[in-house]
Amino acid sequence: MMNKVNIKTISLDLLDRELKDMGLEGFRTSQVKRWLYKFDVKSFDQMTNIGKKYREQLAEKYTIGQLEIVDHQKSQDGTIKFLIQLEDEHKIEAVCIPAEDRRTLCISTQVGCGMACRFCLTGTMGIIRNLSQYEILEQVACVKRFLKEDKISNIVFMGMGEPLANTKNLYPSIAILIDSECFDLSHNHVTVSTCGIAPEIEKFSNHTTAKLAISLNATTDEVRDEIMPINKKYNLKQLIQACHNMNLPKRDRITFEYVMLHGLNDSMEDAKRLVKLLEGLRVKINLLPFNESPQMVYKRPPQEHVKKFQEYLLNKGLFAIERKSRGSDILGACGQLVTTKTDNQ
Ligand code: SF4
Repeated sequence: MMNKVNIKTISLDLLDRELKDMGLEGFRTSQVKRWLYKFDVKSFDQMTNIGKKYREQLAEKYTIGQLEIVDHQKSQDGTIKFLIQLEDEHKIEAVCIPAEDRRTLCISTQVGCGMACRFCLTGTMGIIRNLSQYEILEQVACVKRFLKEDKISNIVFMGMGEPLANTKNLYPSIAILIDSECFDLSHNHVTVSTCGIAPEIEKFSNHTTAKLAISLNATTDEVRDEIMPINKKYNLKQLIQACHNMNLPKRDRITFEYVMLHGLNDSMEDAKRLVKLLEGLRVKINLLPFNESPQMVYKRPPQEHVKKFQEYLLNKGLFAIERKSRGSDILGACGQLVTTKTDNQ
């Protein structure tokens, strides 16, 4: 007997071709995509506007996978952290962050992460494996099922893992997120965050219209080498050059994330160097005062310090905002996602 394939593991392009080969064309292909991603059906029988003959053919060849949420924790501020079981022994986390005008879901692209940023708990896990397109997208589908409403407005790839180390599955996933027959999200509301893989940054806009955020966090190679080992491979000069080389659409800006670590990267000298470093780029800067945790040695800067740093950037004409930490009481804030050994048993 033929081994059936989970239809959600197939990229949109391939799905179009496979459905065409089965005799399903044009609007019927669109209907299948809608049933799978918009209406989130569990069986081909539920695809009521597809002829019985085709539904049977689909069921002979494919299955429709669904992953499950095995645990969740709700923060005092409404942020919810989800633990999702994969089909092997591993689990991953996704974090839903509600705000007045949006509901953002922060999703993972790898189990663990090999980038070992020193301020990040996920980095302490090491890399276990890449997530597939199906596993990336099921985080969105699972959370929508849990919330029982269709209201995820923004996606940020800032969960576990380095997205640009898994581009093979990242870009086809984004294509499905922004396809109007599928998750139907605006490309302006999908953001990919990288620690700075320069060659992939250069090519980013050739693959997707999603937005790019770079986790910068230092203004000298000395400090960046210390807190982000990727800097030893692609230093600040190479990273910034890659941003200049990007084919950035005219109205777009690159977001630079700057985790502020007291005594390490939060001096006024750093603010000055930051302005210089970003000269000539269209940028937005997110200042993120560090979320302290018992496992980490770094400290959060005093609030006046953060304000002064921000004011300097604003006075120099840079668009800089302080991002309020969300969900830190449930370890759901930026850099706090980690599945423990017990989670992964
Ligand atoms: S900050 Fe991002 S890239 Fe760095 S270790 Fe954490 S998950 Fe990986």
